[in-house]
Amino acid sequence: MSELLTVEEHRASVLDAVTPLPVETVRLADAAGRTLAAPVRAAHDAPGFDNSSMDGFAVRFADVEGADADNPVALRVVADLPAGSSDDPSFGAGEAVRIMTGAPVPTDADAIVPFEDTAGGLADSLGTVEVRRAPAASGAFIRRRGGDTRTGDVVLSAGERLGPFALAAAAAAGVSQLEVRRRPRVAVVSTGSELVPPGVAPGRGQIPDSNSTLLAGLVAGADADVTVVSSLQDEASAIHALLAHAADVDVDVVIFSGGVSAGAYEPVRQALSERIAFEKVAMQPGKPQAFGALDDGRLVFGLPGNPVSVAVSFEVFVRPALLALQGRAVIDRPIARLTASEDWTTPPGRRQYLPAAIDLVAGTVRPATAGGSGSHLAASLARAEAFAIVPAEVSTVSAGDALDVMLIP
Ligand code: AMP
Ligand code: MG
Repeated sequence: MSELLTVEEHRASVLDAVTPLPVETVRLADAAGRTLAAPVRAAHDAPGFDNSSMDGFAVRFADVEGADADNPVALRVVADLPAGSSDDPSFGAGEAVRIMTGAPVPTDADAIVPFEDTAGGLADSLGTVEVRRAPAASGAFIRRRGGDTRTGDVVLSAGERLGPFALAAAAAAGVSQLEVRRRPRVAVVSTGSELVPPGVAPGRGQIPDSNSTLLAGLVAGADADVTVVSSLQDEASAIHALLAHAADVDVDVVIFSGGVSAGAYEPVRQALSERIAFEKVAMQPGKPQAFGALDDGRLVFGLPGNPVSVAVSFEVFVRPALLALQGRAVIDRPIARLTASEDWTTPPGRRQYLPAAIDLVAGTVRPATAGGSGSHLAASLARAEAFAIVPAEVSTVSAGDALDVMLIP
């Protein structure tokens, strides 16, 4: 039997084959889920001008210093500044300007008195306001120009994923065109003469194809486009035809499930054994793994067919590759260190990725199913929130042991 590769060895050969996809420029509204190919720098200061952080009155601090309920200070209100106003009303000693949150602070003001600290509150419009509490200091309740970011500052870095927070930061910094990587185009291909489409009642010997649905969702979750979904009979000719089609429609990555192990009907192995590598990796599930780049650069994964094996193989090898194609800086799921709350056994000499349920408040992890690690337990996979990672040299996990746990949001 051939040597087992470590997970790290196989993963390294996968990542070595990845070249990031081309860069394109997209509008902010089209950039969700994309990965930045270049840093985003602020086009202007943010805030762009000194502005009020409260609804209240812009004042000269010297006028109101020392004001309190026993010694209120009356000021004449000479102007009104709603948010969006570009006015800069001048005012003198003993005067104030009513101002709303976000409106530019007049040049003559050096503090804001919130309306809560006045006798009449917002009802004081263009009359008199009685200040019953002085602001703490000159500058109180003024948000300064450039306090968030300054023109030219790096707001987002290359390799960052453009989620809602990042997109909002770009918008706030005045940037509306973003340089991003193209989304990977992916073919998801099930193999197995036993497969019927979901919804078709399986006859004896048949099972529903759940891997297509699983992989399509996982690929979408990795911000890639599923452009081909197919389910093939166990025939090498079907694999060749599929790859020809994948070339025609320009997919970047083909993910096969099933047909890679040592059985008699393994179409992916039969069709591709000369073109990509078929390996055994020291992990459970997911030992048989096929991977390679075709002559035209397309990446091909052959994952073992059991649904749990597919899920684990995707997380460990495929997802990092799909993110690396996008130039993503962080290609790994977050890992939490949690304590096992039950005992379980694991296969010797192979790193286990066990579908697990977690309690992040208690800091604990346990098998997601009573059935243990059976890699065919497709329906039980729904109960998994994470994969507990048990080192190859460990054969028994005992309650109380600390484990790395890959979190799957
Ligand atoms: P294989 O790797 O082709 O030997 O498949 C291993 C096991 O996974 C077999 O029990 C298959 O029936 C099952 N399997 C393969 N492909 C799928 C699929 N698309 N959906 C659900 N189960 C599958
Ligand atoms: Mg099969």
